[in-house]
Amino acid sequence: MVEGQVGEFTEQSPLIKEISAGKEVFWENPAYLKAEEANRHTKYSMKDIEDVEARLQRFASYIQIAFPETQKMEGIIESELMEIPSMRNWLNEVNEETIQGKLWLKRDDLLPISGTIKARGAIYEVLKHAETIALEQGMLNSIEEDYAIFASDEFKAFFAQHHIAVGTTGNLGISVGTMGSKLGFNVTVHMSVEAKQWKKDYLRSKGVKVIEHDTNFSKAVEQGREESNANPNSYFVDDEHSEELFLGYTVGGYRMKKQLDKKGIKVDENHPLFVYLPCGIGGSPSGITFGMKQAFGDHVHCIFAEPTKMPSMLVGLDSRLYDEISVEEIGLGGLTVADGLAVPRTSGLVAKLMHNYFSAGYSIKDDIFRQLLFNLYDKETIFLEPAAVAGLVGPQRLLGSEAGKHYIQRHHLTNKLSQATHIAWATGGSMVPEENKKTFLKEGQSVSEQLI
Ligand SMILES: *Cc1c(COP(=O)(O)O)cnc(C)c1O
Repeated sequence: MVEGQVGEFTEQSPLIKEISAGKEVFWENPAYLKAEEANRHTKYSMKDIEDVEARLQRFASYIQIAFPETQKMEGIIESELMEIPSMRNWLNEVNEETIQGKLWLKRDDLLPISGTIKARGAIYEVLKHAETIALEQGMLNSIEEDYAIFASDEFKAFFAQHHIAVGTTGNLGISVGTMGSKLGFNVTVHMSVEAKQWKKDYLRSKGVKVIEHDTNFSKAVEQGREESNANPNSYFVDDEHSEELFLGYTVGGYRMKKQLDKKGIKVDENHPLFVYLPCGIGGSPSGITFGMKQAFGDHVHCIFAEPTKMPSMLVGLDSRLYDEISVEEIGLGGLTVADGLAVPRTSGLVAKLMHNYFSAGYSIKDDIFRQLLFNLYDKETIFLEPAAVAGLVGPQRLLGSEAGKHYIQRHHLTNKLSQATHIAWATGGSMVPEENKKTFLKEGQSVSEQLI
């Protein structure tokens, strides 16, 4: 951003002052629009979601062969929705604000193949790329063929002549690396300083080339992009600009319609749905939100959650500078326990696109992540990685903050809260090694007595 602009803007916005002081905030989005109106401002539509769903269906026969654990779901990568009443009770005990209605956890931590929400966007993007070059170069005659053929030795030999690269804090690399190398691609993963050692080890064990950078996420992506662009045979999965990642996530939001229906959960004018989404660069919360908005319109309220050290979406949206501002420019940054959300600069593509769709956003401190992680395990025996717990305090942040209360009033939701459904999106955790789990739990226990 332009020199001098930052100072000007922190003076203008009281919220940015609080954010730059490292405080937790809850932000009501002043640009929020009714779904129908928001839809008129974007080039994406239901058609895009249908296109993604159709492609994933085409690949289902291949996925079942490549990853036998997906057979019971017939090659479709999807997760369960689970009620967490004990966690809800605990949250209500330690907070002034009582969650009315039910609290659910969307178990993307259990997604097959890579155990994080990235399995939606990243695997989709790799599959789309594989399909594109297979069609272009005559390996595949038409999209009517049985895609089980992607598991053949001929296809593997074909993809072995191609490269895929990605820059990541870790989890995106795991999804791209696992899917890419299974198809036969040469995959290079550029890791930022946040990336955990076990993620590097895991990828190397899959035959993926891991390059460690001594820099933050934005710089690792930049270096990865440069290196990949120098090779005409290399495709770069670009977390900062990828349309395909975004589209891959949308299906996860849209499919909730059927999932909630099946559980008999009503979503309508008198039964609001609140969804709390951990946010890093913004691709996954944006895609899920877009899909949800197409499914439920104004009856769903999507709220993103970030660490106080890296509130890149909050800062990008509140300033309307999107990706032209980094949290480092307002004195934040550094390591956060929520490594999956350690992104200093949001994606311009999704931030601009989603500015009218998000209802609100909030930030939480590292100790809150630790505390939620421990207590979810303690009350429900569910282990999530730190980034993935961010949504669990969403209801209380919404109901307990001035900005949140204002949102509730403005949308006439006060009398409907007892019939509300709250969903915290659990974005990862099942792949964390035992050793690391123990450390996280211990850290969480040591702060678990403080009030959240
Ligand atoms: C990547 C990630 C997120 C956030 O997704 P973005 O697309 O970066 O916003 C949340 N939780 C986990 C565990 C992740 O790996």
